[in-house]
Amino acid sequence: GEWSGDAIRRRFLDFYAARGHKILPSSSLVPDDPTVLLTIAGMLQFKPIFLGKEPRCVPCATTSQKCIRTNDIENVGRTARHQTFFEMLGNFSFGDYFKKEAAAWAWELATKEYGLPAERLWISVFEEDDEAFSIWHNEVGVPKERIKRMGADDNFWTSGPTGPCGPCSEMYYDFYPERGSSDAVCLMDLGDDSRFIEFYNLVFMQYNKKDDGSLEPLRQKNIDTGMGLERMARILQKVPNNYETDLIFPIIEKAASMAMVSYAKADEATKTNLKIIGDHMRAVVYLISDGVIPSNIGRGYVARRLIRRVVRTGRLIGIRGDGHGNSEGAFLPSLAEVVIKLSTEIDPDVKSRQKSILGELQREELRFVQTLGRGEKLLDELLDDAVLNAGNNGNKPSLSGKDVFLLYDTYGFPVEITAEIASERGVTVDMKGFGIEMENQRKQSQAAHNVVKLSVKNENEIVKSIPDTEFLGYDSLSATAVVKG
Ligand code: ATP
Ligand code: MG
Ligand code: MG
Ligand code: MG
Repeated sequence: GEWSGDAIRRRFLDFYAARGHKILPSSSLVPDDPTVLLTIAGMLQFKPIFLGKEPRCVPCATTSQKCIRTNDIENVGRTARHQTFFEMLGNFSFGDYFKKEAAAWAWELATKEYGLPAERLWISVFEEDDEAFSIWHNEVGVPKERIKRMGADDNFWTSGPTGPCGPCSEMYYDFYPERGSSDAVCLMDLGDDSRFIEFYNLVFMQYNKKDDGSLEPLRQKNIDTGMGLERMARILQKVPNNYETDLIFPIIEKAASMAMVSYAKADEATKTNLKIIGDHMRAVVYLISDGVIPSNIGRGYVARRLIRRVVRTGRLIGIRGDGHGNSEGAFLPSLAEVVIKLSTEIDPDVKSRQKSILGELQREELRFVQTLGRGEKLLDELLDDAVLNAGNNGNKPSLSGKDVFLLYDTYGFPVEITAEIASERGVTVDMKGFGIEMENQRKQSQAAHNVVKLSVKNENEIVKSIPDTEFLGYDSLSATAVVKG
């Protein structure tokens, strides 16, 4: 399309620079903040300024921030709009301008700069925020029918159980305005983003949420916004999902060619797998570039799980060998080369770290392939047992859900591979039992996410608890995506 991802990013930064904002670089994915594991939003590097703990460097700033949201892992490839790694474009006011300017500029940017038709734009406001409603309607000129009042779950943004927060207002793009407003009862039917996509969130940051849950007004009123670069690219490039934009698709095409499949002709399952590879490859390259080494704790564990999921997913779709003729070789480095080629405007430092990034990925992949080798032996034994037991008691041979889960969780065996190998020996797998095990694990990891994702009362305690509570296998196969804001 006419709008490359790079052009969209540049236009955003230039637009706000022309309106007095200083363009600042993205901060690292590893935040300078002991209460969060990874950078989840553009505001994080400005948190001390919002809280009044540090003087503002400038009245207002604009950035394109690298983000990782592990709570969206289950959504990757399942919704059209979520990645774990994405860029958040943002404009920030540190006690300078407030709601009125923020809304007017966001509207101008969307309609005049990016050229989105005004009648395709919908707005959400916090249900109690009459001021925001009035600004959108009376000053910006949005018809009342396209401004939705929503509850605190969706339209009161907090960076955690404590910290800077405030009501927010979001912009949505309507892919099918011809369907009228009857099926647009709730913009936030986010399990289904086939009609509307949220692309820009304006947070009116005016409170500090305290330990006891009370809201203390901040000394100054701030603006904190986030626009998903890949979502805007998806809209402007007129592709069906974020993954088919020029920001991610070249990685998918490389993976498809290594697996000798065609993305266009692939079935949905293969497409989802290719999207997982496209997303996770970006995440791990930027994590390693920011100094995160695969390990069993904290951020290192995030990197490890993402890498292993790419390895498993790649084998599942048929990638064998390194793509340069070595059947024993690692394939992640070839994919990482594509990610790095695309990185120049996202993060100019990545290129200079190419050698160590590729080395780290290669080591971790080959290490994991060994682990997989051990799992294959265990699977063989379990299948022997199943056949033997069935012969003894006259039942059909079957692998228990617990065994399938053990192979999946401890040995990294995709359940599809387990089922396929088992069926070759005439053994079925207890998918229902496996589902129950997965669900138990999902609940555990979700609970852990709720804790570490956010800033907390007792920072030291939470940091200590990260290694054993976080990321206990987020990649659930459960069909229900986690899609709440
Ligand atoms: P959603 O409701 O779609 O999950 P959100 O409300 O969680 O989005 P915000 O916290 O408001 O997202 O973040 C600001 C913007 O960042 C969003 O409007 C969106 O454009 C983008 N964004 C958020 N999460 C993701 C993601 N996982 N992948 C890509 N872009 C994202
Ligand atoms: Mg939002
Ligand atoms: Mg949302
Ligand atoms: Mg969300």
